[in-house]
Amino acid sequence: MIFLAVVMDGKTLAEEIKQDIARRAKIMKERGITPTLATILVGDDPSSKTYVDGKYRDCGEVGINFGLYKLPSSVTECELIELIERLNDDEDVHGIIVQLPLPKHINRKNVTMGISPLKDVDGLHPYNVGKLWLGAYELENDLLPCTPKGIVKLLDRYGIELEGKMAVIINRSDLVGKPLAKLFLDRNATVVICHSKTPELEKHTKAADVLVSAVGKRPSFVVGGEMVKEGAVVVDVGMNYIGGKLQGDVDFERVKEKASHITPVPGGVGPMTRVMLLHNVLIATKIAEGA
Ligand code: NAP
Repeated sequence: MIFLAVVMDGKTLAEEIKQDIARRAKIMKERGITPTLATILVGDDPSSKTYVDGKYRDCGEVGINFGLYKLPSSVTECELIELIERLNDDEDVHGIIVQLPLPKHINRKNVTMGISPLKDVDGLHPYNVGKLWLGAYELENDLLPCTPKGIVKLLDRYGIELEGKMAVIINRSDLVGKPLAKLFLDRNATVVICHSKTPELEKHTKAADVLVSAVGKRPSFVVGGEMVKEGAVVVDVGMNYIGGKLQGDVDFERVKEKASHITPVPGGVGPMTRVMLLHNVLIATKIAEGA
């Protein structure tokens, strides 16, 4: 049977959520608090600069203040953490993000732990990770990693029920695979996490009712039609720049003939991740207000 998958449009949903965020940011401003995101950029990696420019634009569109702190790549871990501590103490700053990747001499985990858990809009501080894994969180009120939260919201929008489903996630990072697995578990899916050392990957992917790929190694890694079960929901997180063009991990044209639902790249998970960062800044502002 040939399916023609429903394309899950993250761009349109992200725009709708942005409008709601702009409305809520305006109300906060009327109460005298302007939600503010501080972004730290270390070095001059061109892709990091592009991501930071994107955050600046997104914040501007919804009325969130954006402060950029640029540090040279020679900065020490200690100096970076000192800046973070100053921002932790600054009452006018509600969210802090350190653009990754960091130079090799800086330990990312130490930096993450330096950020106040109340301003941790990436949701990577052990306090927020602990809340997630203990189930002591609310999607709308706690600081959870942006990509998994965006994926869950997109699946919700398309009425994808996870209970009783087999969900397979190809990725075990702290940013994507692990938190997403927990969100899926909490919705009563049976979850399998795969990674580069998983033997017979296809055996797992073909069993998936919901398949998420976040590898980013195209062309050496591509999710082809033969790896997908008929009627599966396929979420493509991967970002691969090939010949200057953004592509996902999934062979979209082939897989859309087998899947029931699929996310495009661009226009699927990417815009949802970006808007969830803005959502997290509002949550951090509410936390600061004591609301
Ligand atoms: P990462 O930490 O490098 O994770 C990549 C994952 O893929 C790892 O778990 C790795 O396994 C696994 N992997 C690599 N080769 C594989 C193979 N041949 N077979 C099966 N698994 C394999 O990167 P990340 O930060 O999580 O990001 C992953 C991708 O998602 C990148 O393309 C990134 O740009 C994209 N991304 C997109 C968004 C968005 O908003 N669209 C957000 C975040 C990330 P090991 O753990 O064994 O190395």
